[in-house]
Amino acid sequence: MNHEEAALKLGVDPASLAPAPLDPRFAEVWARMQREPPCSACGQPSRTSGVIRDRVHSPRWLDRCRNCFLATPPTLRRPLSRAITDIREAAAEVGLRAVLYTDEDGWQDELRG
Ligand SMILES: [Zn+2]
Repeated sequence: MNHEEAALKLGVDPASLAPAPLDPRFAEVWARMQREPPCSACGQPSRTSGVIRDRVHSPRWLDRCRNCFLATPPTLRRPLSRAITDIREAAAEVGLRAVLYTDEDGWQDELRG
């Protein structure tokens, strides 16, 4: 899911978030992540930051802790099975054996353990 969908799923009101640059450079995002601002959803120290954009608000920072990030994983650009096949093929091309651990249900189950 994208940042806007993540905010919605986590119940984060964009109006409550700090204004962000329209299109921040990676260095700006990295600098924010290094400060570990409170998670926008639960208040724990965040591990990742991104920018949400909607029609109503100016760009806003969405900061997520580990658990909130894992509850709202980014959308893969290709199906997981295809990504795993690509990784195995790339590893084989350079003579490495890839051992990959996956869960058919995705990352959601990691939070239950
Ligand atoms: Zn959180």
